[in-house]
Amino acid sequence: MKAPSANGAWASSKPPLLRFLDECHDKFATDEAGAVADYIPELSKANPAHFGISLATLDGHVYEVGDSKIPFTIQSMSKPFVFALALDTLGAARVESAIGVEPSGDPFNSIRLNSDNHPFNPMVNAGAIACSGLIHEAKGDDAFEHIREALGRFAGRTLGVDEAVYASESATGDRNRAIAYLLRTNAVLKDRVDSVLDVYFRQCAILVTARDIAVMAATLANRGLNPVTGQQVMTPYAISRTLSVMTSSGMYDYAGEWIYRVGIPAKSGVGGGILAALPARLGLGSYSPRLDSHGNSVRGIRVCEALSSHYDLHMLNRSDDARTSIIADYSIGQNPSRRSRRPHERDILATHHEQVRVIELVGTLSFSNVDYVSRQLASKPRPQFVIFDLHRVTSLTRAGARLVAEEFRELAAHNVTVIIAGVKRGSREWNIIREWTGSLKNVRDFYLLDTAIEWAEDQLVYRHGGSIDFHETTELSEQPLLAGLSKEELADLGEIGTIRYYKSGEKIIAAGSPATSIFFLRSGAVHVTLPDGVRLATLTAGMAFGEMALIEPMRSADVFADISASALEVSLENFERLRKQHPHASGRIMRNLAQLLADRLIVANNRIDVLTAH
Ligand code: GLN
Repeated sequence: MKAPSANGAWASSKPPLLRFLDECHDKFATDEAGAVADYIPELSKANPAHFGISLATLDGHVYEVGDSKIPFTIQSMSKPFVFALALDTLGAARVESAIGVEPSGDPFNSIRLNSDNHPFNPMVNAGAIACSGLIHEAKGDDAFEHIREALGRFAGRTLGVDEAVYASESATGDRNRAIAYLLRTNAVLKDRVDSVLDVYFRQCAILVTARDIAVMAATLANRGLNPVTGQQVMTPYAISRTLSVMTSSGMYDYAGEWIYRVGIPAKSGVGGGILAALPARLGLGSYSPRLDSHGNSVRGIRVCEALSSHYDLHMLNRSDDARTSIIADYSIGQNPSRRSRRPHERDILATHHEQVRVIELVGTLSFSNVDYVSRQLASKPRPQFVIFDLHRVTSLTRAGARLVAEEFRELAAHNVTVIIAGVKRGSREWNIIREWTGSLKNVRDFYLLDTAIEWAEDQLVYRHGGSIDFHETTELSEQPLLAGLSKEELADLGEIGTIRYYKSGEKIIAAGSPATSIFFLRSGAVHVTLPDGVRLATLTAGMAFGEMALIEPMRSADVFADISASALEVSLENFERLRKQHPHASGRIMRNLAQLLADRLIVANNRIDVLTAH
């Protein structure tokens, strides 16, 4: 966001979230508690002062504060990604046959196994080594490259390896060696221990920055769709199972406390990183190498705690108002289409307008929203047509889509015709709706709400015995503008006009040209559109157009023939002469015109009312 500063130059203003992260950085940078890990000798070389924070949003924006570009080793933060990769590579059944999903309550490097002699979960070393073993089983010597590439897809860039840290852990990692032998003797590992550990030590030595971790976390929070690259990097199934074990075990023997206090699935690494992924919201990455007794970054924990409490982000502290999705709910009596109707059509529509219900929706159609809409529908007598206008709907959740499909099926069972407006053919929403409702015969769609309403009106007119014959020729006496004129007056009018014929699509009136005549449509249909393409009205035989010439010197809209049409064109000059000749007729016509304009105003006001009533 930019705003002009006092001297007229453009100064950047800071988004509040960035300001908040800045403040966290300044505040927690003074905390010198904890110690840099040294059980892997090379890790002790980390600079304890380094402190970086990054937050990635699900629309792909990345905030960065402090040392967010300093590389460090990913360590245990690799575990969730390798677990997800194992699920997608070998299938859930194979992975679950080797590794449990229960929290152990033990430290990360515990050698204890569960009662099946399997690792408790994939977030502790034993489970992570078992995961690396599974990838090795599937990919052999390519296992590490496979992992490196997968993590790179989460980060959105190619990730390198810190060879010194790898060598250092490999030289000193006897505890992990002991765990691996224990796994092998219990047949959890099938391949050679040294080959599997080589994969595991290398994956822990992959280099990332706080920014990378934020993007990786955001990808977890976004069902596996990397919000920066737009790539779906893993299946939503693998991602949701990974977030599950992060929730229960991501922070080792601090996991229960963590999810209780912070309420965001997370994973830490002894390199000093913390990764936190809040589903459907954000991904956070922090780097500060001083660790507490559980092996979690002291400052990183404080950042997560502050973020969660300041914005109330605990994932179990959520609510939703289902009623916000309906912005208008009315029958077509209150808001008819822009098609001018002849008297017998108008009578039918006035009697049966309750048979067409229009529900205009907005925002996300979720489980709760769609359920609420279905109850609103059920609360009134069932109409013959329901139009759902979705042009303000921004997304459809999977649960929402399923309920929509079930609702359509319910309406079909009662012979209600469903009309969808506002969804572009071929769009994502259209595809989802079609996928769920493809077999239903009662579903139709029109892009424009007005066209949908007009179609439903036509159906009502047909069903109630009214005919809409575009080719029959009407008499001048049927024109509302000429109501009340005598036979003689009408005959004189017929004399002074010229009958014109138009082909389908032909332009009859051009906006901006002088208004010099009035048209009485005898057959066919025309539509009136503003120069920007907005359709104002559809007129059929018996209606006048260009009648605004009586009060305005210039044409304000285009008129096109919808199908072949004929009209009586009367020049203003002749019309004025006729009005002088027949003063009574002149008065009637002006009164009729006032009535027509008043009717249009009522429709326009109703339109505003139905939208503001909600
Ligand atoms: N490579 C480290 C180990 O296995 C990872 C531990 C961690 O980050 N908690 O000990």
